[in-house]
Amino acid sequence: MVKAEGVHKSFGNVEVLKGIDLEVANGEVFCLIGPSGSGKSTFLRCINHLEKINAGRLHVDGELVGYHQRGDKLYELKDSEVALRRRDIGMVFQRFNLFPHKTALENIMEAPVQVKGVSKAEARERAGQLLDRVGLADKADGYPSQLSGGQQQRVAIARALAMDPKLMLFDEPTSALDPELVGDVLDVMRGLAQDGMTMIVVTHEMGFAREVGDSLVFMDGGVVVESGHPRDVLTDPRHDRTKSFLSKVL
Ligand code: ATP
Ligand code: MG
Repeated sequence: MVKAEGVHKSFGNVEVLKGIDLEVANGEVFCLIGPSGSGKSTFLRCINHLEKINAGRLHVDGELVGYHQRGDKLYELKDSEVALRRRDIGMVFQRFNLFPHKTALENIMEAPVQVKGVSKAEARERAGQLLDRVGLADKADGYPSQLSGGQQQRVAIARALAMDPKLMLFDEPTSALDPELVGDVLDVMRGLAQDGMTMIVVTHEMGFAREVGDSLVFMDGGVVVESGHPRDVLTDPRHDRTKSFLSKVL
């Protein structure tokens, strides 16, 4: 589903991604860990067309991110083409970013109606089903300010799912939550994984990574230091940098 080959990204003269190579298979739960500033969010943003890479290749679902290829020439995608591809990728951030003046249900209906031209009736029905799926059927008419952080985050996940994404990106979805609210959000993510969703999850929740993850990558300084099955990386890290990071977070 995602393939990165030598992905580089700089901001000005600061090189943040220094050649990322990795592959995420269909249906895989791919966890990404690493210290602050290692480039995790930047990498997710590159996948989601929010940043342009400077070198290397990034593929999502067999298509080059940002370009299309004819023969051996690359052509930059037009904004409208980028928008079409971004529809297929759902992203959930640390902060929930819901529309404050819309109810939970309206937040979920917004993109299908505005972007896909789905009828309001159809979008409302689907939004209701998605709220049910994230355990919030009774909060349809609640405004974000009336919901807990964990509930808002579950609405944010439902909102992303409303576009029927092929791929879901999670950028520390639970790290802004009070500890007692984390479990409900992880449960929703676990359910998604069981349903076969391809997910890239930046997280500090090592329990989730171990239990739900199919792969775990440790990034540091803009490179992949170590990768493998979560159980192996977490219990028997090979590199000193991984060991030192894990000793701080586990
Ligand atoms: P955290 O765990 O704190 O979220 P991260 O691994 O997600 O860290 P990034 O947010 O990807 O790290 O940032 C990597 C580096 O890139 C940081 O040094 C950051 O300051 C820099 N950076 C990110 N975005 C920009 C930007 N738009 N302009 C300039 N520098 C940036
Ligand atoms: Mg980040």
